[in-house]
Amino acid sequence: MYELKIDEKTCETCPTFDCLVRCQYIDIDKDTAKTEMKKMISGEDSFVLHDCVTCYACEEYCKRGNHPFYLITDLQEERGILPMPKPLKTQFVNISVPTRRDIIQFYGAEEPVISLCLFPQYTRLFSEEKLFEELSIIIGRYFFCHLMYLHSGNPSLIRERLPKIIDNIANHGFKEVIFFHDECYSTLTSYTTAYSIEVPFKPIHFNEYLYNKLKDQQTKIQPLNAKVAFQRNCSARLTPNVEDFVDDIFNLIGAERVERQYDRENALCCGGIIRGQQRYDLFVDVQTRNVDDMLNAGVEYCVFQCPACFDSLSEKVAEKGIKPIMMHDLCLLAIQGSDK
Ligand code: SF4
Ligand code: SF4
Repeated sequence: MYELKIDEKTCETCPTFDCLVRCQYIDIDKDTAKTEMKKMISGEDSFVLHDCVTCYACEEYCKRGNHPFYLITDLQEERGILPMPKPLKTQFVNISVPTRRDIIQFYGAEEPVISLCLFPQYTRLFSEEKLFEELSIIIGRYFFCHLMYLHSGNPSLIRERLPKIIDNIANHGFKEVIFFHDECYSTLTSYTTAYSIEVPFKPIHFNEYLYNKLKDQQTKIQPLNAKVAFQRNCSARLTPNVEDFVDDIFNLIGAERVERQYDRENALCCGGIIRGQQRYDLFVDVQTRNVDDMLNAGVEYCVFQCPACFDSLSEKVAEKGIKPIMMHDLCLLAIQGSDK
């Protein structure tokens, strides 16, 4: 029902084929990229469909408004190419069946509201911490965006379930919803746009909310004066337009995002999905290069946006003496001791 909007002519006249040429997991030159892109646009098989680790990055590498990664995932499903083992795919499907009743907690006014996705462990932030007070919360599978099926070869399930999820949120009458998990925000902006799925409320990225809250309390900030690495998560590749909030937050709290090889558009995956694909040599290689790069840059903290990236990489960075920390906890460090 929902068709991907991809402009074939734009690809035919593309001067760079950067979507594939810049891929950090498939070694591919421009001529080969051109041939493989042509095949995929025609719906044919390509080695790219088999070798892709589903890092999402080609969506960001394409500067011409096309959707190479969404095309790859749709073709993987059409051709029965599974990026991860079947039992894991089944587990992915089962853990997010939207059968439970929604959970809503109202603090003060009904809006602003934040969606905590499937991360109930962060509820305390919005009832106890000064930086986050008086937000209403929605949480649970009734509100889960389902974008993770881009990793498991069954993206049609996103399109099947997402309109109902959007209704579940919209039926409460919210005009704006802050999304704690970057992946939900990317779903409701990038993915819905690519497939012409209507979203009747305004999605707000958590970092925009965080930045504005910090600005409001700027006098209470005690600059951290710390060097940090930022671990970009896969869904950040879908919405680079909000990436500036990361730097704005770091500037406010005195965190220096040091220059390093594997940051920004050249970021490496946390490794979680690659491990799930049972590509263990690549998993070790990617995590080792990433953490060594942080070490060489002399960082004190590795800052995570995504709880899944934290689970995947935090132990490895901690082993090397770098402190793993979630973005919101780093912000709390900068205002702790003010009036708490
Ligand atoms: S998807 Fe974008 S970068 Fe890739 S060939 Fe098409 S226009 Fe070029
Ligand atoms: S999603 Fe990542 S691994 Fe797959 S083709 Fe795009 S850049 Fe390469």
